[in-house]
Amino acid sequence: MKVPLLDLKRQYQSIKAEADKAACDVLSGAAYIMGENVKKFEEEFAQYIGVKHAISVGNGTDSLVIALKAMGIGAGDEVITTPYTFFATGEAISFVGATPVFVDVRKDTFNIDPSLIEAAITEKTKAILPVHIFGLPADMAEINAIAKKHGLLVLEDACQAAGAKYDGKMAGALADAACFSFFPTKNLGCMGDGGMIVTDNDDIALICRALRLHGSGENGREAFVLLGGKADALEQNSGADNTVYNPLKYYNYLIGHNSRLDEIQAALLRIKLRRLDEYVAARREHAAYYTNELAGTEFVTPGDSGRAVHAYHQYIILSENRAEVTGRLAEAGIGTGIYYPVPVHLQMAYTGLGYKKGSLPVAEYLSERTFALPMFPELEKQEQDYVIGALKNVR
Ligand SMILES: *Cc1c(COP(=O)(O)O)cnc(C)c1O
Repeated sequence: MKVPLLDLKRQYQSIKAEADKAACDVLSGAAYIMGENVKKFEEEFAQYIGVKHAISVGNGTDSLVIALKAMGIGAGDEVITTPYTFFATGEAISFVGATPVFVDVRKDTFNIDPSLIEAAITEKTKAILPVHIFGLPADMAEINAIAKKHGLLVLEDACQAAGAKYDGKMAGALADAACFSFFPTKNLGCMGDGGMIVTDNDDIALICRALRLHGSGENGREAFVLLGGKADALEQNSGADNTVYNPLKYYNYLIGHNSRLDEIQAALLRIKLRRLDEYVAARREHAAYYTNELAGTEFVTPGDSGRAVHAYHQYIILSENRAEVTGRLAEAGIGTGIYYPVPVHLQMAYTGLGYKKGSLPVAEYLSERTFALPMFPELEKQEQDYVIGALKNVR
């Protein structure tokens, strides 16, 4: 038997008729950019998460960059985050000109350790960027309390946590703003790239809307004013011709981005959003089965913290003999993955920040021992039994 780490074909097959029709309707409708599906998907996603605003963008990385900019974070600022994440989390902080300050993680949940955050706060710290790694929400009550005490903003990297919950609220509704990715492998994945920023804050939402469209138009103008600009004086000086059609469209008030969700992707995401709770429930069922069957073995299985509902984007276990175990599983036709072999603070791109091996021991410990088992909603029981059997037979 062969068991892949992930099989996206099965999910497509299960929605094929509906997905093909939705994509073809977009093709024949010819409203390819910012059409009805994008508008509807933003409304539906905001409602699903339980927030006021959802602003779709081109991918998850852009959602982090644009949200950070909209929160006023830039050169000279520091943002506290986790080293045990996909590179984009740190990259986005650096891209806006700020400095990521990496704080070590908890050995049991793999999420940023709140007890270490305060020691990392300086007069330059502007925000905390926790990641809900592998679909398990970070300790948001503790993180929000620290942020409040020190006057910091909090941005959730919820790219892996669509459908997860914490204290009865959806991941994405737990801080000042949150970011999602719809990369195909994520819990809510499209058939290309896509991302979303969600927030209850009207100003952050408006600036995000402006930044994704070159800082132009009415949103650009309002965002410019929100950020302290004086639009009236500027327009008088620019000699703008207000008699042309929709003049604001080609007036640019901020240096922004071209970062939009494709209409086809939005149409497909609307179909999958309606099934997201079902997908997460299936992931949780598979996770519970692995955890139960692997109890008492050499493998450490993931914790499901008391306040959170884990969405199991990945099912990660820990072994002191990772290379041997994953090698044996590969021989048995079983796919595994390593997330993440190099913690972000030790990436080549960050040599300039001065971290060394040993700087963040828990993240480093995990990156040498953890690996992912096959996990996706359509995974079958007999496939799980095969994986479990192979794990138990390693020795
Ligand atoms: C996937 C991911 C991103 C980036 O999303 P893209 O859509 O690939 O740009 C950022 N942060 C985390 C934690 C992710 O898993």
